[in-house]
Amino acid sequence: MTDSFNPSVRTLMGPGPSDVPPRILSALARPTIGHLDPEFVKMMDEVKALLQYAFQTKNELTIPVSAPGSAGMECCFVNLVEAGDKVIVCQNGVFGGRMKENVERLGATAIIVEDEWGTAVDLAKVEQALKDNPDAKIVAFVHAETSTGVCSDAKAICDLAHQHDCITIVDAVTSLGGSELKVDEWGIDAIYSGTQKCLSCVPGLSPVSFNEKAIEIIKNRKSSVNSWFLDLNLVMGYWGGNAKRAYHHTAPVNALYALHESLVILEQEGLENSWARHKKNHLALRAGFEAMGLEFVVVENDRLPQLNAVTIPEGVDEAVVRSRLLNEYNLEIGAGLGALAGKVWRVGLMGHSSRGENILLCLSALEAILSDMNAEINVGVAIPAAQKALNK
Ligand SMILES: *Cc1c(COP(=O)(O)O)cnc(C)c1O
Repeated sequence: MTDSFNPSVRTLMGPGPSDVPPRILSALARPTIGHLDPEFVKMMDEVKALLQYAFQTKNELTIPVSAPGSAGMECCFVNLVEAGDKVIVCQNGVFGGRMKENVERLGATAIIVEDEWGTAVDLAKVEQALKDNPDAKIVAFVHAETSTGVCSDAKAICDLAHQHDCITIVDAVTSLGGSELKVDEWGIDAIYSGTQKCLSCVPGLSPVSFNEKAIEIIKNRKSSVNSWFLDLNLVMGYWGGNAKRAYHHTAPVNALYALHESLVILEQEGLENSWARHKKNHLALRAGFEAMGLEFVVVENDRLPQLNAVTIPEGVDEAVVRSRLLNEYNLEIGAGLGALAGKVWRVGLMGHSSRGENILLCLSALEAILSDMNAEINVGVAIPAAQKALNK
């Protein structure tokens, strides 16, 4: 006989998922009702309105895709890109690479604007690519690159794209709820996110939003969308506004209760307050790391508060440290990816994980383990430095 699965209670300070608060976990356990039940349909309308708030948009087409962030990415590309199109893809980490993959699998051409891992998207390079490719239709970029902890200037990239008659697809999986993001004000045309990062909901849903210009493009496609499940023309029949809801797929009912609860929590805290909390806690963690002697990968002005990539002390086996954190402290932090594998740790302060107690746990646990491994760090200074920043 197989036993029930009972995971350890961890503190999640990696690149996602983040800690899911008890309020959201208990929302998941509420009774499952039909996905066309009028009560459920009313809740869906509230989820749409709350997502509009989180994205800062009036876009009618603002819904959660019933699948993780990568499906939100695919939803944007598969609906907006047709074979033969030219798409400018900014790549400065893992997720830009996946955008390129999406474009090419759709039979379109990806023009790559490449920047070093850990640096923001270079506006001059984007402008040059737009000048060199007057037939480009879309500019796609990652707002908050979780693989490195860098934030790119979404508003400026959107402005450039529009000057050259391109629309924009923006990855906001890690930025939504954690740092400033204003879909309408910045002129973002299509955007996708995820639930398990700064919304601190369970993984498996992907909020997306499309403006009128993007919807026009979808409606005027020459070919049908190359995915039945993600075809927004069909999805809208279920999530759409006034029309009578028709069965498209069975919505993940309980996961949507959880998303609803996470967005209610966000609204209660206030979006700007959530951004400010992420910033403040980042500064406290940073004070601790820097006192200890660890360095940030990203220059100060481009750092994401919710994803802190820091260097590893000389001679330390970083994987040993991570597994000791997990086994001895129930604490998860992230490894470096791709070009940064083995060179950095990625410490997330996302959503409910962005709390003073997590910062103090992480710094003290890391200090204890690194001291035990005789690593060259400054001992006894990280906690006071973080404490001082937290008390500000
Ligand atoms: C996590 C993440 C994704 C992918 O989301 P999944 O839910 O893992 O599919 C995409 N882009 C960025 C920037 C992310 O951080």
